[in-house]
Amino acid sequence: MDIYKANSRPTDAGNPEYFTGMVMTDPINTAPDPARVRALRVSFSPGARTAWHTHPLGQTLYVVSGVGRIQQLGEPIQEILPGDTIWIAPGEKHWHGASPDNAMCHIAIHEALNGSNVDWMEKVTDAEYQKAD
Ligand code: MN
Repeated sequence: MDIYKANSRPTDAGNPEYFTGMVMTDPINTAPDPARVRALRVSFSPGARTAWHTHPLGQTLYVVSGVGRIQQLGEPIQEILPGDTIWIAPGEKHWHGASPDNAMCHIAIHEALNGSNVDWMEKVTDAEYQKAD
């Protein structure tokens, strides 16, 4: 058993190639092989969001705080709130992030396939992001 103390692993900034706005990530689970599950806490500042992406084995999101947005390609943007759980099917193109006026924090849980748990695509434009307004 390993206990990872909160002060033993630093907060990372989201890679600006894959995120718009200020995003911070804190690892929860980076279990070694043969475990495949990965989990992290992701904190989005108001207006911040992921780029479009897919997950080879799907993804579960659990909203911890704030007001967020999520969109599956071809569907309307939806608001997500604390306590909401979202399942994103394997290969489903989507993005997630904060609302324009409120931060949002979610826990993201996904499995790696051949060492990768995400395939990143283009950024979500301001026009795409603001379609919900
Ligand atoms: Mn995702």
